Amino acid sequence: MTFEYAPAPESRSIVSIKPKYGHFINGSFVAGKKHFPTINPATEEILSHIALGGASDVDKAVMAAQKAYTKTWSKLSGEERGKYLYRIARILQERAREFAVLETLDNGKPIRETRDIDIPLVAAHFFYHAGWADKLDYAGLGHNPKSYGVAGQIIPWNFPLLMLAWKVAPALATGNTVVLKPAETTSLTALLFAEVCQQAELPDGVVNIVTGDGSTGSAIVNHPGIHKIAFTGSTEVGKKIARAIASTDKKATLELGGKGANIVFDDAPVDETVEGIVNGIFFNQGHVCCAGSRLIVQESIAEEIIEKLKVRMAKIRVGDPLDKNTDLGAINSKEQLIKIKELSAIGDAEGAERWSPQCNLSNKGFWFAPTIFTGVTQANRIAQEEIFGPVLSVLTFRTPQEAMDKANNTPFGLSAGIWSEKGSRIFWASQHLKAGVIWANTFNKFDPASPFGGYKESGWGREGGKHGLAAYLKNGKETGAK
Ligand code: NAP
Ligand code: MG
Repeated sequence: MTFEYAPAPESRSIVSIKPKYGHFINGSFVAGKKHFPTINPATEEILSHIALGGASDVDKAVMAAQKAYTKTWSKLSGEERGKYLYRIARILQERAREFAVLETLDNGKPIRETRDIDIPLVAAHFFYHAGWADKLDYAGLGHNPKSYGVAGQIIPWNFPLLMLAWKVAPALATGNTVVLKPAETTSLTALLFAEVCQQAELPDGVVNIVTGDGSTGSAIVNHPGIHKIAFTGSTEVGKKIARAIASTDKKATLELGGKGANIVFDDAPVDETVEGIVNGIFFNQGHVCCAGSRLIVQESIAEEIIEKLKVRMAKIRVGDPLDKNTDLGAINSKEQLIKIKELSAIGDAEGAERWSPQCNLSNKGFWFAPTIFTGVTQANRIAQEEIFGPVLSVLTFRTPQEAMDKANNTPFGLSAGIWSEKGSRIFWASQHLKAGVIWANTFNKFDPASPFGGYKESGWGREGGKHGLAAYLKNGKETGAK
């Protein structure tokens, strides 16, 4: 039996978007010279025009951050810094609905996710780090650990405000100041966050936001006044950054791509597992670096799991991201949609079998139906490369060791999921998987106290938890970061 859902759109009247934005430097918005449009990917409506920052804008922002660091921020006690972080966290909670609607408009992800996942986690991140600001002596990082100075932070479009929180909260808690660049397609919530900094009366220059494209990011990376870089994005750009800073004393954490495996053993609870697989790959349109984009399932139960997965996939509601009933929203950009289509076509050409449920996709905006490929082999590009869309590649195994070998056989090592009723098997598998985050009988669960990061080409260092603090402190313990 299928149910018809009446439309339940969230009102967008809570947000007011200006026609044009400048950069946020030294506590004020300053006009940009050139601008580019930012659109709603569900409708292609132009929402606003964003300033394209050049080297001189980055320079002004770094100067402001340096001044704020020496004159104000590094002189405050941890307790004082913590008060500002608590204030920001509370304002974010008060304005949560506004942030959720704006994020959904600019990014294309469903309101259910921005409202229930992104924005609550953003506030949680600020609360968590506010708590650390006056306790750094007790974080196991040595006595009186020291900040670096100005942190240059570059973030992607998949969790725009959440990635900002992952970067800004630990930087401020540890006493660093910030120059941050949001992704080209999703700058609006970062610019609203700048207003929150003003509302919280954060001292001028502690947080600076310069909008722009890859050249703006590169100007931040190469600026001599930047002491630490925190980047989340593609492995390709991560490698460029690693090369650019190789002969400098700049520190860096890099959170890059992934090709996460959801490993399903024959004793897994079937219905829960199917729900977990759906959450692992179709959450946030698969725009998730730690997505469970490969299903590695024991041969004896593969048929049953795939059959139930298809039934469940047919019930995924794809459509208006502002509708509270929507499960899967719009793909963030035309470029990303092209990339997903190209890699899926390669899957067809390599002989894998593609299946999607019937979906009525709008011809305005960027859409891709939830998709699975079965009969995938390890050598296939769809088993090796990050698709970064709602596309699942299914492989099978016979012995537990074969599952481990297949799961580890990619250039990445960010996340994995294990589905089994047997605790000893879960512990055994988690010791053999080369992945920074391993979930057992669940997937895509996040907490500010839990460190996040990967092996191999998935990046350097960890963000979140005590490990994440260490990356912003001079005598912080070794975390694998540069
Ligand atoms: P990206 O190019 O790596 O972008 C990430 C951030 O870096 C953006 O702010 C981007 O600016 C900036 N940037 C681009 N070139 C730069 C450079 N040379 N130096 C410094 N900063 C630079 O990622 P993308 O183009 O948005 O997405 C491409 C692929 O990356 C996706 O298909 C996906 O596979 C992967 N990705 C991974 C994550 C993750 O969480 N690990 C997140 C998003 C994307 P612009 O926005 O102006 O390009
Ligand atoms: Mg946009």
